Amino acid sequence: MKTPVQVGLQIACALALNFAAPLRAQSVAEEGLKVVRLNELSSTSLNPLGRTALALNRDGWKHAETANFIYHFFDLGAARQVASEAEFYFRVIARDLGKEGQAVERKAQIFILPTAEWDEFKHGAHLDPWTGGAHLANELFLTRDGERFQGATLGHEVAHLVVERFFGGGIPLWLNEGYAEYISGVLYAAYYRARGYASKPRYAEIKAEEFIPIEKLVAFTGYPPTEREAVAFYVESRKLVTFLQQRGKEAFRAFFEAMAKGSYFESAVDGAYGGRFSSRGDLEDQFRAEAFKTP
Ligand SMILES: [Zn+2]
Repeated sequence: MKTPVQVGLQIACALALNFAAPLRAQSVAEEGLKVVRLNELSSTSLNPLGRTALALNRDGWKHAETANFIYHFFDLGAARQVASEAEFYFRVIARDLGKEGQAVERKAQIFILPTAEWDEFKHGAHLDPWTGGAHLANELFLTRDGERFQGATLGHEVAHLVVERFFGGGIPLWLNEGYAEYISGVLYAAYYRARGYASKPRYAEIKAEEFIPIEKLVAFTGYPPTEREAVAFYVESRKLVTFLQQRGKEAFRAFFEAMAKGSYFESAVDGAYGGRFSSRGDLEDQFRAEAFKTP
């Protein structure tokens, strides 16, 4: 797996690790999805990739909005499913990160492409062939696998959108991916539990020999070159987020805020967690001791 893509700006992760149970619900609540014409949307300001997507099949696109998102789609059923999950994730993530009730005026844009248009889009944007979703600034591009979206992919990508909207684009890679993995696993399970399905997060594991020292993990600015290393990077990033979350929700919010503003890892940890860790070595020892025990 290579680093996904250029096009002037780097597209944030197209690799949403996907180990959740297959999705069985076919019909979900609509979340007040309002179908409108393109020129009736509250914002038609798009990035180049968004404009490219809409140009692929001008007559096929439909458009709609909910409270926090704008959707471009071909199939209304797909849009409803995405809208339902997106709004649910938006609310819970905003609460989780201490941003509940804070208005964000400009809505994020979600493009849901059928297979043929997705293949064309993917090729044009130089995305890797395995890519099933991509996120750039406030635009999210998704395709559908048959009748459903795969596992926690949607939640993972929506997490990036929500984080971007509340915190801007300065979140370090490990924290952005680790948080998206953490919260999407939790939320995917919660979403389906709330609708009567037995579901709990299922996560990938890493082996002791694949452990990445924290100093190296937090310094990544691009995705690791091999699939094996990329998986270890995602899994360990998620574990470090979980580890920090478990040491205080308020502390984690303060830590996240500091990281978004450009703090170094050490000073963000010191500021948010006080004397909880005597040194980075101490933090690393505690984290490592848990990393191979907990999911
Ligand atoms: Zn991601």
